[in-house]
Amino acid sequence: MTDWRQSLPTVRGRYSFDAVMADQTWFRVGGAADVLFKPIDLGDLLTFLKNRPADIPVHVVGAGSNLLVRDGGIRGVVIRLGRGFATVEREGNEIEVGAGALDRTVAMTCGEWGLSGLEFLVGVPGTIGGAVKMNAGCYGAETKDRLIWADVLDLSGKLQRLTPGELEMAYRHTNLQPDQIVVRARFQCEPGNSDEIMQRLNTLLAEREVSQPVRGRTGGSTFRNPEGHSAWKLIDEAGCRGLMLGQAQVSEKHCNFLLNTDACTAGDLEELGEAVRQRVKVTSGYDLQWEIIRLGQL
Ligand SMILES: Cc1cc2nc3c(=O)[nH]c(=O)nc-3n(C[C@H](O)[C@H](O)[C@H](O)COP(=O)(O)OP(=O)(O)OC[C@H]3O[C@@H](n4cnc5c(N)ncnc54)[C@H](O)[C@@H]3O)c2cc1C
Repeated sequence: MTDWRQSLPTVRGRYSFDAVMADQTWFRVGGAADVLFKPIDLGDLLTFLKNRPADIPVHVVGAGSNLLVRDGGIRGVVIRLGRGFATVEREGNEIEVGAGALDRTVAMTCGEWGLSGLEFLVGVPGTIGGAVKMNAGCYGAETKDRLIWADVLDLSGKLQRLTPGELEMAYRHTNLQPDQIVVRARFQCEPGNSDEIMQRLNTLLAEREVSQPVRGRTGGSTFRNPEGHSAWKLIDEAGCRGLMLGQAQVSEKHCNFLLNTDACTAGDLEELGEAVRQRVKVTSGYDLQWEIIRLGQL
């Protein structure tokens, strides 16, 4: 064990050393993190941040549903918010949610409460922290439309309450930096009929099953849609649907999704993604930009 790991502060949550990040991501690929830390609650996270060894890189991950961890793993400490960050509370037509809560749980809970507005989150397999950071969205709705504020910690432990405007939220974008951690968020909903909302949620889930490889080892949309275009169409027109590199494949079902069909490496997936970018550039001139966050060492 390297020295810095022996001087980690005492916390109530759990440290895992040489934690295999493939276990933490939807792609099921990626090397190990030096340390994976699951803080139990905000107090625990603050204890860690204020007493951690200086100059050690710190990263935060959510459910790993938009994440490609490279095969060389991640140096430093990876934080994944624990149970104390998964609360969902209601105050009138507004809800306050821990950043570790799953989007689907939030959408379902709102449905049961007869609160409408966050139905789109039901098919996004991430956490609320990831939804804020990525401004997750679908079916014409985005996280920013409903977000009132997000509580964000920096690595010194300073907490700021930021509005969508202050976060400069736009299509799959915020100005949040890799060293900022969303810990809590408040959303505006509207009253609705619980049965109707639940029905809508089930319809949205069924539609996803048909149009996306939701049971595959994937990272969701690989590339951002260029303005006025759909990335999947450009990829399809470039003849990339079903394209394989090792065990990595461009999904047949939705060709802006990459798949780990068996036991591919993160390198295979990234190389396949780059091959797709090149083909699209040649056929249409568009320079596709990665939406998936690539983290760690090659
Ligand atoms: C089958 C499938 C379908 C999908 N469909 C959609 C869709 O319809 N719409 C859509 O927008 N996305 C979709 N995605 C992508 C993904 O689910 C979203 O981007 C989601 O918001 C990522 O959340 P996460 O918790 O998994 O974040 P991760 O993938 O773990 O991380 C993504 C980024 O968010 C950051 N992050 C995570 N948590 C925090 C936090 N607490 N504070 C600060 N930063 C944080 C990470 O550092 C990283 O930069 C899909 C993915 C899959 C696998």
